Amino acid sequence: MKRQIHLATGNLHKVQEMQRLADASALALRIVAAAPMPEVVEDTGTFVGNARKKVAALQAMLPAGAWVLADDSGVCVDELGGAPGVESAYFAGPQHDGAANLAKLVEVMRGVPAARRAAHFKCVLVLRGPDRLELAFEGRCEGVLAHEPAGGNGFGYDPIFVPDGYDRTYAQLSEKEKNAISHRGRAWMKLAEWLKKSGRP
Ligand code: IMP
Repeated sequence: MKRQIHLATGNLHKVQEMQRLADASALALRIVAAAPMPEVVEDTGTFVGNARKKVAALQAMLPAGAWVLADDSGVCVDELGGAPGVESAYFAGPQHDGAANLAKLVEVMRGVPAARRAAHFKCVLVLRGPDRLELAFEGRCEGVLAHEPAGGNGFGYDPIFVPDGYDRTYAQLSEKEKNAISHRGRAWMKLAEWLKKSGRP
């Protein structure tokens, strides 16, 4: 039987991405979606703080000994002083509407010249195991914001983010291409390294 890690998210895109990352790392690991994910108020002001809250909330609902992983991520725009950052999921309002968030970022950045469009995605993964084990892994991907959205893959702000070294947005990359360089992919690689070394869960 495959070993499993529960993922503290209600976002099925994240579950799929994480499963593909696990498969690509040759880890015989099943990523299990939280069903349901308990309501968590993401009010710590940091990616790591929010991820810790999510992981603790889900672990509290599972049988003792369960391994749980949480992801907190977002896009940080230099011109906006790092916003939307930890508030990426509800930039356009509390309804967590990815299309509305993207449209708002396009509008807010309208007319801002290329030289002032630097941004990065950040992801913090927090893993919790038995015996209060808790570890955090961070990944970052630098890039710029395109003037108009392009591409149909991925989710959220993918259509407006062009990673450094590319002339296509995240949404124009295949999932494999995105995972190899993305903030989540990079955080995952650090986590995968730990999982391989420790032989856990
Ligand atoms: P979280 O689910 O609270 O971590 O919120 C993350 C938010 O950041 C998502 O709702 C998206 O708006 C955005 N985000 C995080 N990772 C990505 C990505 O890989 N592509 C596009 N948007 C992302």
